[in-house]
Amino acid sequence: MSQQPKAPSILEQYPEETREAAELLKRAVPHMVRHDIPPNPIHYALWYNYCRGDEPELNRRLDKIVADFSSFPPETAAKLFRDYIIRGELEEARCGQQQVIELVDDIEGDVQRSVTGSQHYQDSLSQGLAALQEPIVDDLPAVLNELQLSTQQMHDQQEKFLYRLRAAQGEIQSLRSQLERAQAAATLDSLTHVFNRHAFTRLLEQALANDTDGLALIMLDIDHFKQFNDQYGHPLGDRVLQHVGQLLRDLLPARGVAARYGGEEFCIILKDCFDLATASTFAEQLRLKIQALRVKVRSTDKVLDTITASFGLALAVPGDTFDTLVTRADDALYQAKRNGRNQISPTTSEPALSA
Ligand code: GH3
Ligand code: MG
Ligand code: MG
Repeated sequence: MSQQPKAPSILEQYPEETREAAELLKRAVPHMVRHDIPPNPIHYALWYNYCRGDEPELNRRLDKIVADFSSFPPETAAKLFRDYIIRGELEEARCGQQQVIELVDDIEGDVQRSVTGSQHYQDSLSQGLAALQEPIVDDLPAVLNELQLSTQQMHDQQEKFLYRLRAAQGEIQSLRSQLERAQAAATLDSLTHVFNRHAFTRLLEQALANDTDGLALIMLDIDHFKQFNDQYGHPLGDRVLQHVGQLLRDLLPARGVAARYGGEEFCIILKDCFDLATASTFAEQLRLKIQALRVKVRSTDKVLDTITASFGLALAVPGDTFDTLVTRADDALYQAKRNGRNQISPTTSEPALSA
């Protein structure tokens, strides 16, 4: 069992090898050409993800847009890019985006100046050379002077450009960290540091769209937590939630996902889990660890109380949606509560497998 992976950074969302990425891009370009979509980074990113196919909703929306419109409205592209690629609901991410735009504008300005300088240099050189080929050059020192001046200007501009490029590398690095922090803030629950409900919804939907085979869902809810809060106060309740989050992160299998679904309720997505017995073994391990937590008075180490949790399990079957799978796990959890709490209830009513 290993640690829960931290929220995927924008780069970690694209783990493909260069060859694979080139292949996806090769497939994306004909789509763009077919629908007359101008080549720009946003469009490349959207169609790259389209060919990748792991955001079915994005693909549906892109299909609909190209079917409904003869052109691809830029504001629609920008919105899809925000919603599906950078998921930029945070101000910080927007600010990062703005800085990237300014940075690119700056560099573009430098390139433009460099190109203009280069053109000027070339013109001076041609004029200078033409003058030197005249049988009598009236003002040779002036021609040479002009050439030297142009060479110097050209050299200065290129130096400046190089300097800007180096500085840009540093700025891009810091923007990347900023975007990673924004991504983490957008996907993690700030109290327990497991995924938040929004991220959980997206991850479970993705997992279901990918393959229902080998996918299990565990829901757990702390028992009588209201009573705990009433007795010891909300801040101590918060610390219990933090400890439960820590336990989930410590015990989670490599391809598992742990999330805070709501108040004192958590969800775990297990992948490579083909039967309820396997999910149940993992849930039992968690149940025992939670039961073994000791709520102590910090100063005296005196044990105040213990906590327990109830668990509901469900195995995904073909045709499952987010709602059907979550409802089965939730029903099972309710059953565990009714049976007396501090226990695991596998679903008893798995729908029949479709042919
Ligand atoms: P059950 O065994 O049936 O689950 O009983 P319960 O008391 O745990 O369930 P109930 O839904 O009645 O109460 C949930 C409580 O969880 C209510 C609320 O005080 C507590 N809770 C929800 N979110 C937080 C939180 O962020 N911090 C703290 N400390 N408590 C929370
Ligand atoms: Mg509860
Ligand atoms: Mg609850």
